[in-house]
Amino acid sequence: MTQRQHNIPFNKPFIVGKELYHIARAVIENRHLAGDGPYTRACEQWLEAALGARRALLTHSGTAALEMAALLLNVQPGDEVIMPSFTFVSTANAFVLRGAVPVFVDIRPDTLNMDETLLTGAITPRTKGMAPVHYAGEACAMDAILRTARINGLWVVEDAAHALLATYDGRYLGTLGDLGCLSFHETKNIICGEGGALLINSETLAERAEIIREKGTDRKKFARGEIDKYTWVDIGSSFLPGDMVAAFLYAQLEQAHAIIQARCKLLARYDELLTPLETEGLIRLPRRSENSVCNGHLYYILTRSPDERSRLIRFLKDRGIMAVFHYVPLHSSPAGLRYGRCAGDLTVTEDLSGRLLRLPLFFEMSDDDVRAVATSVTEFYLGGTAGRR
Ligand SMILES: *Cc1c(COP(=O)(O)O)cnc(C)c1O
Repeated sequence: MTQRQHNIPFNKPFIVGKELYHIARAVIENRHLAGDGPYTRACEQWLEAALGARRALLTHSGTAALEMAALLLNVQPGDEVIMPSFTFVSTANAFVLRGAVPVFVDIRPDTLNMDETLLTGAITPRTKGMAPVHYAGEACAMDAILRTARINGLWVVEDAAHALLATYDGRYLGTLGDLGCLSFHETKNIICGEGGALLINSETLAERAEIIREKGTDRKKFARGEIDKYTWVDIGSSFLPGDMVAAFLYAQLEQAHAIIQARCKLLARYDELLTPLETEGLIRLPRRSENSVCNGHLYYILTRSPDERSRLIRFLKDRGIMAVFHYVPLHSSPAGLRYGRCAGDLTVTEDLSGRLLRLPLFFEMSDDDVRAVATSVTEFYLGGTAGRR
């Protein structure tokens, strides 16, 4: 049997042009390699201006931004934090590290985001906050989430790791809750290897955030000349990236809008090429959320069964196309069972996470690549291998 052999990875880290130029400036001109240097500040200013965040602090990962959020909100042992089970481990881990209990709620079948209608039922006297995750850069129903938070006196930390520059009602995701967490991991839209940022939208949290990021010291005030010596004033850790990493990130931020535009175009092509299969009822394509402009972060399809998904992954792999799935729902993972609990049953999470398949998507992907993937998926369903039923 002759079949076309492709070589399409799932993800491919990319550079957009001036990364090495900025790194050279950081190293040779600025001579600032530690954290909180000129490039860190430039990235933070870019984020504050582009997103309208009150304050942005660069961190060495999205995970670190979430951990900073938990410290900043004084999360205590026994506190409960409502979140989806369908997310990356860091959403839960950040709070579990402080002794809190993640309370998992089910997701909506359309956007795969935390189902806002289940929140009120999940609240107990121990509930302190919520951590909605904007899956695939599609906005959670933030109006309802923020309203529920306000009524019950809860804080909201947006896990916006997927969501840089995506909007809800014209406002940027990550700037709607008390805090927002971004990631610049090499699998995200804008990258620097490992990196992230904490967006601080509440004035009262900004000063302490700088202290927590600087090992619990008031070094930042010292650097600004506001005090004549710096000292240990609070708990904290080292959450700063080095300035070389920030220099790399700065080059990417300068091109952020173009990068996202390119990704959205690839998404639209996938939609266009795979719609016939959805029309036939063979797969389901991503649903857009209301009032939201997405950022082309990832593309997934829903197969009809976990077994069909396994066969499709093998079929694509045989043709040199790498497709992967995520997430193993946290409530069914060993640590999730130990540290978290469920509010209600999580049938949508269990069903959809077993059938979701992510297709390749990266900045340098060509239209031919998208066509090759879509053609292979189509062959799987219509070419006789999987059978048309
Ligand atoms: C990637 C990701 C994180 C963690 O970000 P890192 O930069 O990899 O630490 C957290 N939450 C979600 C939903 C993510 O996808």
